[in-house]
This record gives sequence, structure tokens and C-alpha cells, in this order.
Amino acid sequence: CAAAAASARTGPGRTSDGTAVKLLANIGGAADVPSALAADAEGVGLFRTEFLYLDSEAPPTFEAQVKAYKDVFDAFPAGARVVVRTLDAGADKPLPFVPLGEEPNPALGVRGLRAFRAFDGRNEAVLRTQLLAIREAAGTSAPEIWVMAPMVDEITEAEWFCDLAAGCGLDVAGGRVGIMVETPASALTAGAILGGRTGFASIGTNDLTQYTMAADRMLGAVGRLQDPWHPAVLKLIGAAGAAGEATGKPIGVCGEAAADPLLACVLVGLGARSLSMAPSAIAEVRAALAARTVAECMAMAARASGAATAREARRAAAAG
Ligand code: PEP
Ligand code: MG
Repeated sequence: CAAAAASARTGPGRTSDGTAVKLLANIGGAADVPSALAADAEGVGLFRTEFLYLDSEAPPTFEAQVKAYKDVFDAFPAGARVVVRTLDAGADKPLPFVPLGEEPNPALGVRGLRAFRAFDGRNEAVLRTQLLAIREAAGTSAPEIWVMAPMVDEITEAEWFCDLAAGCGLDVAGGRVGIMVETPASALTAGAILGGRTGFASIGTNDLTQYTMAADRMLGAVGRLQDPWHPAVLKLIGAAGAAGEATGKPIGVCGEAAADPLLACVLVGLGARSLSMAPSAIAEVRAALAARTVAECMAMAARASGAATAREARRAAAAG
């Protein structure tokens, strides 16, 4: 028993029947790396690069970005994976150097990847410099560096991002350029998106829940609806998971949902093969996965997805 408990605290994530589920950390910069390493994370599943620059009036230089990214990359060994999210600008995370314009409904407005395609490409140079800096920092790093774009709705946006990334020397053909699935549109068309050059998808359950429930995640009055256990959210995750299986491309989850040990098992049952979360949550999620087979996770997912409410879904997953 002591040995089993100890093994659950370290080592790669896997179900009790041996299916690998990478356990990764969500970070905002090098300051978060020690807790990720202490939790024995297998790398980073979400590097929120915009957190580095929330106070910057001017765009960060190429050199400053190379250093900031290398500080993170160099902390991880060969065999680890670091997934860098390109700048996720929006009204909730304003970047002074990425102008967005005035909007009545910012959550539904110009944000994420849209910010760099809008306004006739006015902000595109900022994204291009970031991609070049990631490429430069990745060049001499031990871990695998993957790059993904936030708030992608459809294949045209995904292909636009792949074009830009390929032009900046990133490994599109090798499957290391991907997208976040954060809207019902991208979840439901994930098969088409992954049928193109997009190499992987990471599901952002915070935004996916907000857009599925039509409830602003910043607004306390509708906070009750921001629950990723809602069966509508689970069905969308299942659609993306099925698209991953059909195309043979990896699907992960990097929203807060992955930090809930019971829900983490459901996510694996829906097709996720990597889970990224706050480092403090990794040990419990590792232990929950180690206690269940994939078939059990799938049965939990089926019960939860068939429920009528978030509350019933959680109860159904826990039963049996
Ligand atoms: C998400 O939306 O689930 C996500 C991981 O991105 P963020 O929380 O930074 O919007
Ligand atoms: Mg998001």
C-alpha cells in the first residue's frame, strides 16, 4: 500500500491498465516552473505567454521573448513536452500593445487568435515576432516544443495559423503546431480542423464552458453556469475526442476541469490523452487515473454525458 501511494505521487500518468495520460502543468512563466517540477509534471501543457506581458506598453522584443521562453524550456529535460500558447489577448487579458477596439460584448469579440487576424492584419507582426522567438528558443532546447493558438473557431483560422507558423520555421509537418478548442464551433468541427495541417488540439474547458452555457466567465451573477460537468460541455469534449481518435491526432485538456480528479477520469473516457492543470492538482489526478481502467473511464463518461444537469453528471460519474 505504501509503495502504491508513493508511486501515485510521482511518475508518468497512466490508467490502471497502462494507458498513458500525460500529466502536464499550466504555467505563466519561469516562476511557476519549480512547482511543476516538484509535482513531477511531464512538462507544460499550457504556457500562458500573455501573462508575461500584461503590463507592457510596447510589444516585447524578439530578444526579450527568446530569453523568457528559454528560461522555461531549459528547466525541462529531453523527453518532456512544453506547449506554448501564443498571446491570448482579450478584454479579460488586455495587452496594451495589441489594440482591440471598443466592444459591447468583449467575451464575444476580438480576442485570442482573432486579435491577430482582425483589422487587416494590423497586429499580425506581433504574432509573427512571437513565433520567431519561440522557434529561436526551441532550437537549442531539450524538451519538445509545441505551439498552439487560442480561440480558433474553424479550419480557415487553423490553416492561417499553420501557414504563419510554418513561415516562421515551426514544425507544422511534424505535428507540433496545434489549436485550442474553446468554442462549440471548433469542438463540433474538430474532425475537419484536424483533417488539415493542425497537429493537435487542446481543449480549453474554461472558455468552452463559457461559450456553451452563454455565461460570461467573468460575471459572478452567472457563475453557477460555469461548470464543466454540464453534459452539454461533456458532449462537445467527446466530439473533439472522437475527432482526435478518427484522425490519429492528440487531444488534451488544459482548462481547470483537468484539475478535478473525478472529472479528469471522465475526460480520459472522452478521449483526452494529456491533462494540464495547476501543479498542485497533479498528484490527486495521477492517483485517480491509476485507480481506473480506460474502460471504466469510458463508462463514467457515458453516464455523465447522458445526465441532464452538471450536478447529475457528477453524481452519475461517481456512482458505479
Ligand atoms: C481555457 O479557456 O480553458 C484556457 C485554458 O484558457 P484561459 O483560461 O487562459 O482562457
Ligand atoms: Mg481560454
